[in-house]
Amino acid sequence: MFDLPPRPEYFSADHEAFRAAVRRFVDAEIAPHVHAWDEAGTFPRALYRRAAEVGITAIGYPEALGGTPADVFFSIAAAEEIARAGCGGVQASLGSHGIALPPVVAHGSTALQQRVVPPVLRGEKIAALCITEPGGGSDVAALKTTARRDGDHYVVNGEKTFITSGLRADFLTVAVRTDPANGGPGGLPNKGPAGLSLLVIDGDTPGLQRTELKKMGWWSSDTAHLSFTDCRVPVENRVGAEGDGFKAIMHNFNHERLMMAAMACSYGEACTQEALDWARQRKTFGAALSERQVIRHKLVDMAARVEAARAVVYDLAHRLEHGLGDRNALVARTCMAKVLATQAMQFCADAAVQILGGMGYMRGTRSERLYREAKVMMIGGGSEEIMKDLAARQLGV
Ligand SMILES: Cc1cc2nc3c(=O)[nH]c(=O)nc-3n(C[C@H](O)[C@H](O)[C@H](O)COP(=O)(O)OP(=O)(O)OC[C@H]3O[C@@H](n4cnc5c(N)ncnc54)[C@H](O)[C@@H]3O)c2cc1C
Repeated sequence: MFDLPPRPEYFSADHEAFRAAVRRFVDAEIAPHVHAWDEAGTFPRALYRRAAEVGITAIGYPEALGGTPADVFFSIAAAEEIARAGCGGVQASLGSHGIALPPVVAHGSTALQQRVVPPVLRGEKIAALCITEPGGGSDVAALKTTARRDGDHYVVNGEKTFITSGLRADFLTVAVRTDPANGGPGGLPNKGPAGLSLLVIDGDTPGLQRTELKKMGWWSSDTAHLSFTDCRVPVENRVGAEGDGFKAIMHNFNHERLMMAAMACSYGEACTQEALDWARQRKTFGAALSERQVIRHKLVDMAARVEAARAVVYDLAHRLEHGLGDRNALVARTCMAKVLATQAMQFCADAAVQILGGMGYMRGTRSERLYREAKVMMIGGGSEEIMKDLAARQLGV
């Protein structure tokens, strides 16, 4: 149908060459396996190294840390191509470093950056971001995991949940409450953003326990509940200054939300493409489904939703890349882009399953998988309600 027509106003020849390389990799090494991996509830760890070899993992990171400095449209091109395989589980876990590493790169000490970032970008180690707790994910400022200072260590106690790559991660970027007055065991955690910090916790730290969680979609992504019991974490693993965690977390969300919006458009497109292919070959009452006006209109409605959301996403990416507009407006646009794109995905997944009929209800079709995955795109990384509330505040509503 639209098969990612070139958008030279956003994607140069270099972007397109990179996109083509990622597409070859996805077509050969991801797409043929996603159904089996999803059914198995995992994918081979070796895929991280392959993604690194193709140059996907390092995109946008500083050269000094083993990265490949690049603008955001390289990241978007890679995300779109991986999304075409129609399996958010693989994409979420394979890309979990994309939310775990940026705070380390932006605020970590040089020693911490050098220890953590290069092996992850080489695909040898896995990184995860741990913000959400059983008591709630939306209200980040209310998180309860404590980190009490004890000499040159923090002692961490608490729980995190729904953590992507939580089972396999070698490095965990963890939001903790370091408020010295109230942060210790037995003390009352101090509510509010001022006492929050980020720590990188190594996966083999004694006292860390991980439990697998079963979920509606993203089956091949590992999602874990983590509990920290008296985990001793060296002070040098702190990311930035003590008490500066909240700002870093909020800033990090913006990129995550932009990328989720870009992916959601491509998931919507993958559903539309599958529905079109099906409608062309499926005959009922002597004619292909694609010849029925009601089906043709449905397909155009799907394409239109994707195109509209994608236009907003590309415009936002361009504005972010070139610093166009004030910060509040950019945050509001980011929230609106995520809402629009994930709604487009949900619309397309629903329509595609309907067009595929009974086959759309069968495991193994992209549409069935993405139908189950639409909800996590609308909840994770900031739910729809939180996105609208944040946008309203930025817009002075
Ligand atoms: C598969 C999966 C992977 C995830 N991966 C990660 C990860 O890697 N790292 C991580 O830290 N987190 C992760 N999350 C957590 C995710 O970010 C949270 O689920 C999300 O932020 C919502 O938090 P919550 O689930 O605690 O819902 P809550 O905050 O309890 O909210 C519940 C519902 O109430 C609504 N709501 C909340 N507050 C308001 C309000 N003020 N007004 C109106 N409505 C409101 C919400 O929109 C939501 O619909 C993941 C989640 C899933 C499902």
